[in-house]
Amino acid sequence: MNRVSLLQIPWLKAALKNRWPQFTISALLMAGFVFAIVAGLVGTPVGSRNFGIIAVWIAWWAILILAVVPVTGRGWCSVCPIPMAGDFLQRRSLLGPNGGRTRGLNLRLPKLFRNIWWQNAAFALMAIFSAAILTNPRVTALALIIMLVAAIGMSAVFERRSFCKSVCPVGGFIGLYSQVAPLELRVADAAACASCASKACYNGSEAGYGCPWGTFPAGLTRNPACGLCLECLRSCPNDNIVLNLRPFAADLEKPAARLDEAFKAFLMLGAALVYAAVFLGPWGNLKVAALAAGTWPWLGYAAAFLLICLALLPGLFWVAVRLAKRMAPAKPHTARRHDFAQAAAALVPLGLAFWAAFSLSFVFANGSYLLNVLSDPLGWGWDLFGTAGAVWSPLYGSWTVAVQVGVLALGAFGAARVAQRAGARGGLHPLPVSGYSLALTVVMMGLLL
Ligand code: SF4
Ligand code: SF4
Ligand code: SF4
Repeated sequence: MNRVSLLQIPWLKAALKNRWPQFTISALLMAGFVFAIVAGLVGTPVGSRNFGIIAVWIAWWAILILAVVPVTGRGWCSVCPIPMAGDFLQRRSLLGPNGGRTRGLNLRLPKLFRNIWWQNAAFALMAIFSAAILTNPRVTALALIIMLVAAIGMSAVFERRSFCKSVCPVGGFIGLYSQVAPLELRVADAAACASCASKACYNGSEAGYGCPWGTFPAGLTRNPACGLCLECLRSCPNDNIVLNLRPFAADLEKPAARLDEAFKAFLMLGAALVYAAVFLGPWGNLKVAALAAGTWPWLGYAAAFLLICLALLPGLFWVAVRLAKRMAPAKPHTARRHDFAQAAAALVPLGLAFWAAFSLSFVFANGSYLLNVLSDPLGWGWDLFGTAGAVWSPLYGSWTVAVQVGVLALGAFGAARVAQRAGARGGLHPLPVSGYSLALTVVMMGLLL
């Protein structure tokens, strides 16, 4: 498979090795992050007029899901402001590598937490409150504060970026969908790593910190385990790190058969379907129930959400995978659980397409609020750029529908392709999983269009 290392471009390599550009972007994002919290706490409670809601859930979300994740994978994690304070606590340095050592308790995360079940749980928790988070500035501020405090607290106790790796609900879905991106950080020559005495990429050196994600770059085969923090690029004394352009979805050629990742895929898929029904569907009662956190109707909504994501979608998929095994001409002896987890790789391109199509609706409908909040971020009657009174103007027409249909079709095609390749390797006929993906695509189209 063809790969081209972007680090052959001298100025790009120099810019990525230098800590200043990355730090500057993160610091600016941190300022925006803190301002979003402040706006959420003291600004107008009207969501569509509050910077916290519009900047985070319209602007940031759209850029993340429509551009950053599909193109760069974990590119957001490379500059994300959330780990900044925790990193400082461990490193006692804002910028310089400070000998590559970290301080603090540096405890190893207990084995029980070294998986993404906790990320799944954190995402599910956020998801059942999402209608309130997405519309109420105070709740958005609270969610951002909780993430920041959790990241700092975990950095104070545990080694490296334990919060990112095991808990962050945003990092969980970025990691899942980063497998589709045409970008990867890997080592150029694994043999050089085998004979490398210092393993500075993992242990740290005068030039850089040991991998904050606890990953040994020579063992990297898939994107989720790498936060693209670029420390190994700085610390490797043998110039053995490469940043490759590669074909789309290359990680899914040999998917990991992990049950926690499979359930992450179901959670994401189910959340996209439910959000499309809640935010874009004609069911007023559903929206009211989703918004009324803590009430009986909301409990019913939350239970239905969890049932769809954790029982209905996986249950139907289990049936599809069993059928795929029966229909396959050759049937290698593999555990049912393994077949199920491996086949779930097909849901990665499908889920990303669902989220992109849903986000397009959301952004086209609400994007014009950005003009209002840029001029009056707190809803206090300011008019900084003369656009505070701009009239809400949704961008929605036949061309947006065509784009959404195209995105969903691409997702279904990607799922069928992954099902075919994974099926050929794992002894599963691709038809049932492709049919499952197509049926869900039709449902999503019905909800969106
Ligand atoms: S895992 Fe979460 S907190 Fe960590 S860098 Fe990525 S988005 Fe930010
Ligand atoms: S420091 Fe460089 S050469 Fe050594 S193990 Fe790490 S990536 Fe390989
Ligand atoms: S493998 Fe390298 S770029 Fe990826 S998280 Fe570890 S140190 Fe950062």
